[in-house]
Amino acid sequence: MAAPAMITTLTNLSIWDGEKHLDANALRLNGSQIEQIGEASALSQGARLIDCRGLTAMPGLIDAHVHLELNPDDKDPPDKTDLKIAPIMAERAAAMVAAGITTARDLGGGAWLELSLRDAINRGEAIGPRLICSGQPVTSPQGHCHFWNGVAADFEEAKVVMQRQLEHDVDLIKVMATGGRLTRGSKPTDVQFGQDTLSRIVDFAHAHGKRVAAHCHGTHGIHQAAIAGVNTIEHCSWVGAQGWASDYQPDVADLIASRGIWVSPTVNRGWQRMLDNTKGAVLARVRSAYQNMMNAGIPLIASTDAGIPGVYHMDLPHALLVFAQIAGLSAQQTLTSATRDCARAIGLGDQTGTLAAGMAADLLLVHGDPLADLAVITDPAAIWARGRQIKLAI
Ligand SMILES: [Zn+2]
Repeated sequence: MAAPAMITTLTNLSIWDGEKHLDANALRLNGSQIEQIGEASALSQGARLIDCRGLTAMPGLIDAHVHLELNPDDKDPPDKTDLKIAPIMAERAAAMVAAGITTARDLGGGAWLELSLRDAINRGEAIGPRLICSGQPVTSPQGHCHFWNGVAADFEEAKVVMQRQLEHDVDLIKVMATGGRLTRGSKPTDVQFGQDTLSRIVDFAHAHGKRVAAHCHGTHGIHQAAIAGVNTIEHCSWVGAQGWASDYQPDVADLIASRGIWVSPTVNRGWQRMLDNTKGAVLARVRSAYQNMMNAGIPLIASTDAGIPGVYHMDLPHALLVFAQIAGLSAQQTLTSATRDCARAIGLGDQTGTLAAGMAADLLLVHGDPLADLAVITDPAAIWARGRQIKLAI
């Protein structure tokens, strides 16, 4: 009898599970899940067999910070959401998963279009990464990304904004703790809320079972977010009077570490220019901030802020090469930041980010050993996303 098409066993491969190489050479996929990992002789029965000699299986990549709604080719932010862009957002999602990004966290849009796309992907009606979405970020009047309508002058107004997000079935809450570069008139160094308001926003989200991602550039805002107990700090740029990464404060870093907060530094492919500019002082400051954070025990997770000008949605694999060089990470550390750690940070560690029996079949096959040559992740030989075969070119 022919094997059910849904069972596939990959044989003769190396397996890197998100943390280490496994002593196994086969992986059996059944429907949307990994059924078993072990020896080919024990996992082949009743399955379609694919000989993967020369390839390594690794978990699908995760981008912890994207905006499906934003067009990277637009120099200026939109003044409101264009409701006709849903099909373009679906194309962006398809391009992401075709690059090996099997999960992404969308941290802001104006009209919940990315949530509709999330649901369509979950139903199998669209192709894309597993998405988790924040909807409209909570921001101050005229504050960062106010054009997405999540504006609140105080906690009572913030509660109304958050209730609106909950009604739209968001997965988490995003709050703008400081200003940003994208929005004219908002300053990265300045906080947008008082400590009491920010803390109450975080408490409200947590009481409703939602994690909180906080946009923070300046050190004051980073400190407030740590005190408030957010789950992830986005950017964490340590911006001070002397510019980017000029105001690193060890006691604030210690607080971030002690509260178990993850940092999502949004390093994109374009940061290559920082590496190319050998005379620049910013690279040394940014690198030491990242290394100091890691030494303090703060895990860094992979993220790109895709959608902002010049940052394309499918760029994460290339961005990881730049992230590794800027932060001084080994290939193993870089890949763990984009798989196991990223999944844990965004609350999906029990579903994805590692290869193990019972986990989602989110995986890439890459040529050779990604720990020896990180660049192989930019051209995977095969991709599965929740068991759906996205690419098979071996
Ligand atoms: Zn962003």
